[in-house]
Amino acid sequence: MKKMQLLDNYSHEFNESISNQIKKYITIEQCKFCGGGFLSYAGYYKHDGGWMTSLYPDKIWIWFTCDKCGHQWSISHLGVKRDIEINIH
Ligand SMILES: [Zn+2]
Repeated sequence: MKKMQLLDNYSHEFNESISNQIKKYITIEQCKFCGGGFLSYAGYYKHDGGWMTSLYPDKIWIWFTCDKCGHQWSISHLGVKRDIEINIH
């Protein structure tokens, strides 16, 4: 599957800070496949079906990767509703 362009103009440390704030919206904290946790940084790219955030003017699709099996979970599968705005300071 071809990946869309990542918004990679942020440093790894900045991504971790953003990701910690996004994680506050998550209600499911274990991988449904293997029970693993998630890596500390999120992946994200521009996507009309994603979330509005205070981070970026367009909607972005956001996922976290399982630290055991490597599955990439969209935050919609981790309990985050699609119609909320994610506030990042
Ligand atoms: Zn897993």
